[in-house]
Amino acid sequence: MTAVIELAGAAKTYPGGVRALRGVDLRVDQGELVAIAGPSGSGKSTMLHLIGTLDRPSEGTVTIAGYDVATLSDRELSALRARRIGFVFQQFHLADGVTALDNVADGLLYAGVGRRERRERAADALARVGLGHRVGHRPNELSGGERQRVAVARAVVGEPALLLADEPTGNLDSVSGTGVLTLLGELNAAGTTVVIITHDADVAAAAPRRIRLRDGLVVSDG
Ligand code: ADP
Repeated sequence: MTAVIELAGAAKTYPGGVRALRGVDLRVDQGELVAIAGPSGSGKSTMLHLIGTLDRPSEGTVTIAGYDVATLSDRELSALRARRIGFVFQQFHLADGVTALDNVADGLLYAGVGRRERRERAADALARVGLGHRVGHRPNELSGGERQRVAVARAVVGEPALLLADEPTGNLDSVSGTGVLTLLGELNAAGTTVVIITHDADVAAAAPRRIRLRDGLVVSDG
């Protein structure tokens, strides 16, 4: 099994001395579907930032897709992020006034692919998330659940090693939320490694492996 994520003694202390993570060991293998759960303030966002290579640990090591983030320059880290990690956020983060197709195609801007191929692959990704009939719609012409599907398509269009979803159902009604979770499950079944960060126990319950954080430590994993 290849590890997609490996944290060893990973700790994060913020300026001012808050110890948001206090030595976390975690290994996530290729093909897993994992929820990282815990109450507000338990360190979930900090964990997301470390796993997403948006921040570096104060102590310990973070290895993503085989790269120790401490050994990479900012430029190399950006490249790692662009090629290996697809992000999905609670707020969708789609560009207004731009079609679903172009929102998704923009997910390949840093992949060194020409415009025509970007749009072809975007159309495929939209079909995968069940939005093949909405490629020409702009975000304001889509429901919340559809917007999040577009965001998921954008995250996976580059076939990243890891799909990292931060409260992906937080802005959705329960029916749309369940649909997005089902979609993440389908992508996982097709081979994508998925990590969902959530404070919602129902969302966590949908994942076969649940990692629970409290006060900056992993208190259960299974
Ligand atoms: P969660 O996402 O589970 O709510 P966080 O990782 O955001 O937890 O926060 C963990 C702890 O770190 C909290 O006590 C929070 O106040 C603190 N914290 C988070 N970000 C910062 C920051 N940039 N500077 C200082 N303290 C922070």
